[in-house]
Amino acid sequence: MTRRVTIFGATGSIGQNTLDLIARDPEAYDVVALTGGANVSQLAEDAKRFRADIAVTAHEEQLPILREALAGTSVEAAAGAGALIEAADRPADWIMSAIVGSAGLAPGFAALRHGTTLALANKESLVAAGPLLMAEARKQNATILPVDSEHSAVFQALVGEDPACIERVIITASGGAFRDWPLENLAYASPEQAACHPNWAMGQRITVDSASMFNKSLELIETKEYFGLDPDRIEVLVHPESLVHALVGFRDGALMAHMGAPDMRHAIGYALHWPERRDLPVERLDLARIASLSFRAPDPERWPALGLAREVMRIGGLAGAAFNAAKEKALDAFLERRLAFTGMAEIVGEVLERMSTEEGLSSARFDLDNVFQMDHLARVRAGEAIEKRQ
Ligand code: NAD
Ligand code: MG
Repeated sequence: MTRRVTIFGATGSIGQNTLDLIARDPEAYDVVALTGGANVSQLAEDAKRFRADIAVTAHEEQLPILREALAGTSVEAAAGAGALIEAADRPADWIMSAIVGSAGLAPGFAALRHGTTLALANKESLVAAGPLLMAEARKQNATILPVDSEHSAVFQALVGEDPACIERVIITASGGAFRDWPLENLAYASPEQAACHPNWAMGQRITVDSASMFNKSLELIETKEYFGLDPDRIEVLVHPESLVHALVGFRDGALMAHMGAPDMRHAIGYALHWPERRDLPVERLDLARIASLSFRAPDPERWPALGLAREVMRIGGLAGAAFNAAKEKALDAFLERRLAFTGMAEIVGEVLERMSTEEGLSSARFDLDNVFQMDHLARVRAGEAIEKRQ
C-alpha cells in the first residue's frame, strides 16, 4: 500500500534528506504536497520528480515563477500562508513539518486536524506552543513523532518503558563552531565562522544556533514539552563527537544511551517507518576505530542561552513564544551583521525580562492567537533593543 506524504520545508536540509529516503523506495509513497520558500526552482524540480499533486511556495511574489516552472505538468502551483494551510488540509498519512522558525507552527497545527502522523522537525512550534500542539494531537487522535536527533533518541530509548520510571534525560550538544574558542573572541565571531558545524550538515540558521547553543536551549524546552518532564530532570552534556545523541536515566540507575552517526536520515527514517525499523542508508559506527568518547559540562558563561531556556521554563505560558521569536529576530540581526554574536543572548534576555513584567507571560491566556501575538510583539521588542545599540 502506498503512503500519502506531504513535506513542509521540502527544499531545506531536513526536507531534502526526507526526499532522499523517499526516492529510495518511490513505489511506497504517493507525494501529496511539497512546500518551500524562495528556492522555487528546487521546489519545482522536486515536485516534478516526485509527481506531487501540489507545490506551494511561502512567497506569493514567486508564484508566477513556480507556475512557469511547472507548466505542462500535472503539478498544481500555489503560494502564500493560506496555501500552506490548504496544503496541510489535503489528506495525507504522514506529514513532515520541516519549515524553519515559528513560520512552521500554523501549517503543523493545521496538519494535526486530520488525525495524521506528524513528523516534527520544527522544534520552534513546540517551544512556542508545545502544550497546544500536544493537546490538539490528543484531541484529533494524531501522532507526533520527534525528528530531532536528541528527541528521536529519547523516544527510542523509551520504547517499552514506563515513563514513571524516568529519573532524568540528558541531551548532548556538540558545542558547535566556537566550543574551543577563547571566550574573549566570541564577540567578534562572524556569521560565516558560526555557520561551520564541526559534525552536522544542517540549514544555516540551526547551525548558527548550535554555536550559540540557542539550538540546545530550544531543545531543552522541546524535551520538556514532548516528554512532559520536569525541567530539573533534563540535562545538557557537551559531547564533541556527536555520536551519543541522548541518554535516559531510570530509577534503578540504568542509563540508556542512543548512539549513531550524525546523519539526520536516521531520525527522519525512524519517524517515516515507525513503529517498524527498516534499513537506512546511514554509516555504521566502528567503535574500535572511534576508540574514545568525551563529555563535559556546558560552560554557562560561553553559552548563556542555556540559562535563558531555564528561565523560560520557569516562567512558562507564553514565554516560549516570546523567547523563540526574540531569538529569531536576534539571529536575523547577527546574520545581517547588525549584532555581535554575543549580542544575541543579551537581546533575548532583555526582551524576556521586559515582556515577562509588561505582558504577564505566565498568566496571559495560552491560546494560538496569543502565541502569534506574543511572537509578533517579541520581534518588535527585539528590533527596538537591537536598534538602541546602534
Ligand atoms: P533549512 O533552512 O535548510 O530549510 C527550511 C525550509 O523551510 C526550507 O524549505 C525553506 O524554504 C522553508 N522556509 C523558510 N522560511 C519559511 C517561511 N517563512 N515560510 C514557509 N517556509 C519557509 O532548515 P533545516 O535545517 O532543514 O531545519 C528545518 C527545521 O528542522 C528547523 O525547525 C530545525 O530546527 C529543525 N531541525 C533541523 C535539523 C537539521 O539537521 N537540519 C536537525 C534537527 C532539527
Ligand atoms: Mg537536535
